[in-house]
Amino acid sequence: MIPSLTGLLPQEITDKLSLDINFRGKQIFKWIANGAETFDDMTNLSKELRSHLNKTSKVYSTRIKQTLVDPDGTIKLQIELFDNRCIETVLLTDADGRKTACVSCQAGCAMGCAFCQTGMIGFGRNLEAGEIVEQFFHLEKKAGKLDNIVFMGMGEPMLNLAAIKKTIDILCSKEGRNLSKRRITLSTSGIISGIYDLADNGPFLRLAVSLTVANEDLRKQLMPVTNTNKLQDLKNAIKYYTEKTGIRCTLEAVLIHDINTNDKAAKEFINFAKGIDVHFNLISWNRVPTLPFREPTKQEINYLMGKLEKAGISVTLRTKRGRTIGGACGQLGRSYAASDNT
Ligand code: SF4
Repeated sequence: MIPSLTGLLPQEITDKLSLDINFRGKQIFKWIANGAETFDDMTNLSKELRSHLNKTSKVYSTRIKQTLVDPDGTIKLQIELFDNRCIETVLLTDADGRKTACVSCQAGCAMGCAFCQTGMIGFGRNLEAGEIVEQFFHLEKKAGKLDNIVFMGMGEPMLNLAAIKKTIDILCSKEGRNLSKRRITLSTSGIISGIYDLADNGPFLRLAVSLTVANEDLRKQLMPVTNTNKLQDLKNAIKYYTEKTGIRCTLEAVLIHDINTNDKAAKEFINFAKGIDVHFNLISWNRVPTLPFREPTKQEINYLMGKLEKAGISVTLRTKRGRTIGGACGQLGRSYAASDNT
């Protein structure tokens, strides 16, 4: 178990610290949600208790190792975990000033998507809830109150769903940070069992599915998850999720030159979207020097968007952010690889 308190709910804090009054656990939980990193910050606890807790426990288990800021305002934090592994977390600010934490849920990733740097470094381990919560609070200390959180950083959230659910319980608790569940998006490469789990057991989140291509054979090459999560089954799961939750899913596609921007790809996307209520979110592939792909041209992007719009599909193009600091979609993991701790 991680030696910190950030991954615990009030009663669990009370139990872990063997506090004599339940209320103390609530006080500490609230302090953490308000940014306290040490017991010394918790001024409504007695000096004796603070001194005792300082000797026996600690609030955080992670620390910021490096902060990088892109000229577009994107912030990327390299965060060191208690076992010396490193992960990355990113703060994105949109044109309207809304701030979104893009957090990692695993150190590395086992999914092996061919176009993603994180996929190249392989799997380290699942993160504990506290390690995910701390990413959010580290970013809030840098940028003030955040509006949204997306589970879209390093790793596949559906393969660490228990920790994701705990993170949500903590961040959405009325006794603490009180984040709205409507502000939360989970992005999956297409783990069908996880989609059914969320639909049946909650929490009901905004769901984004990284589709990338809607051709089974090509998707198997680009996203090996397709070998065990077939496209038709994925489509059925998306339909089920929307019917159960009333939430329209987003299909994401990283656009890669000559791969998924042509007429054939457009027809396959349109066919996949038939009969399900989805929105397409396109993003141009962000260059990773070691990978054998090219960014799409503007003409390619416009062509695909035009085709989807003409077919009556709701589609947006996501702005690229954080590219100069390796903080853009698909670029996370440089520091993890550099830390050489797999
Ligand atoms: S795109 Fe997501 S699921 Fe695929 S390898 Fe990268 S981090 Fe993992």
